[in-house]
Amino acid sequence: MVATKRDYRTALEYLETFKKKDGLSVSELMDSDVRGGLTYNDFLVLPGFVDFPASSVHLQTKLTKKITLNTPFVSSPMDTVTESEMAIYMALNGGIGIIHHNCTPEEQAAMVKKVKSFENGFINAPVVIPPETTVAEVKAMKEQLGFSGFPVTENGTFPGKLLGLVTSRDVQFLEDDSVAVSDIMTKFADLTTGHKGITLSEGNQILRDIKKGKLLIIDDNNNLVSMLSRTDLMKNENYPLASKSATTKQLLCGAAIGTLPTDRERLSLLVEAGLDVVVIDSSQGNSIFQIEMLEWIKKTYPNLEVIAGNVATREQAANLIQHGCDGLRIGMGTGSICITQEVMACGRPQASAVYNVCKFAEEFGVPCIADGGIQNIGHITKAVALGASCVMMGGMLAGTTESPGDYFYRDGKRLKVYRGMGSIDAMQKTGKKGNASTSRYFSESDKVLVAQGVSGAVVDKGSINKFLPYLYNGLQHSCQDIGVKSLIALKEESAKGNVRFEYRTASAQLEGGVHDLHSYEKRLHN
Ligand code: GDP
Ligand code: 5GP
Repeated sequence: MVATKRDYRTALEYLETFKKKDGLSVSELMDSDVRGGLTYNDFLVLPGFVDFPASSVHLQTKLTKKITLNTPFVSSPMDTVTESEMAIYMALNGGIGIIHHNCTPEEQAAMVKKVKSFENGFINAPVVIPPETTVAEVKAMKEQLGFSGFPVTENGTFPGKLLGLVTSRDVQFLEDDSVAVSDIMTKFADLTTGHKGITLSEGNQILRDIKKGKLLIIDDNNNLVSMLSRTDLMKNENYPLASKSATTKQLLCGAAIGTLPTDRERLSLLVEAGLDVVVIDSSQGNSIFQIEMLEWIKKTYPNLEVIAGNVATREQAANLIQHGCDGLRIGMGTGSICITQEVMACGRPQASAVYNVCKFAEEFGVPCIADGGIQNIGHITKAVALGASCVMMGGMLAGTTESPGDYFYRDGKRLKVYRGMGSIDAMQKTGKKGNASTSRYFSESDKVLVAQGVSGAVVDKGSINKFLPYLYNGLQHSCQDIGVKSLIALKEESAKGNVRFEYRTASAQLEGGVHDLHSYEKRLHN
């Protein structure tokens, strides 16, 4: 006998009769004392209802109590990930870069300064020449550098008094290469210049009006401070999401320091350079050294935002929250270059660490960064669903044009070095005791260094100017699938039990990956 089926128009009504929603709430998923810790790959988020376009999803989120970003992307303070170039483009694309401290305090402060003084579209450190430079030398420089517009300054200094400009047209047909540029350059009096403080669009308008190739920008004392090139007119991208200070309009910049007494001097240089947020960088943040440093910073620089860590448990977090941190960094031994869990027997699977710490920190309004182990957009979504406000990435951003280091070829692949800050390589970088990497692992007085990370290579990922928009769009689509209109909603609806989850068995993980193909190419974006 065929059972009578329900009228299809009663499906929603029938759904209401179920005692509980399909799947698990975040607390049902995570709050188990006996099951063991979970990683991002151990669960999935169930799809929700879509009644909005992905492009309308907002990714605004908090980095610290006082700093809000338009995206949750933070680059890791590692010497193969974040120096000024990375920090500039992270900030332009709506994230923030944390400049590493495996270098001298002066070098680190100079990198912060470079980010803070960056103006999109302007050539902020143009190659300049002294007036006695010969035409032959200019031609050689063109060969080497690929451009031939050189401002001429007194003694060839930058910033320095502007004397003139030499371009390819000035040297192109000259027979006598021994002539000095001072004889053939366009002299200062005949140049149209822009004044310091001019906006990019004002500068570009002048370039269009004068129909010349370069606009030199000078200060009140006729010192050259930057320049605009006509070639860049069309290329200058707009960065609507850029992370900027509301008052100075400068890009936001973070930097890491350790917990040694010398780090206090280091921080004073960084603050002088304009630092917005400092990360106290330790693989195990729950220490008397960090607490003392945290208290000292909050007392000495009350307006500086301080991110403490790393932590993986509530107890660790409580100590740092109690002493006034403005943000927390979560993760121990889960980074792609980490061997801490293996070697030290210490750490925690990242999804469990993020969930437990974030749930606790949320009570005090302390935003959390999920640090390490982010391998794809899905992991970012999951970190936020578990309570994180931002994600810190090392491996994902290594190998990009903006990461430090040169590309090299191996096995036909274009690669860059990516190494753990606890790798022997990084700890021996300066060859000095008290190097930033050793202090991160409390190893500055060790006779034998015990590695907590490895040194490796990653493939060329192109520019983060393409990669971050890919992550951004992907995250918007991920939220759309889940049925939430913002990262904040994802966090809130997850905490309320409205976003649903499910465990992912080993075979579910296989099923969710590409399978049963002879071969394929994994292109992540165009
Ligand atoms: P030029 O007229 O031969 O100097 O070259 P173009 O202006 O056509 O192209 C130079 C390109 O190199 C532009 O995209 C510039 O932004 C870039 N560039 C970067 N640094 C410098 C620099 O120090 N001087 C000059 N002239 N160009 C630079
Ligand atoms: P990834 O994004 O590559 O998975 O992880 C980056 C994170 O790993 C960093 O932000 C930092 O917290 C952590 N890390 C960096 N170097 C080391 C290391 O040598 N050992 C360990 N245990 N963690 C590291």
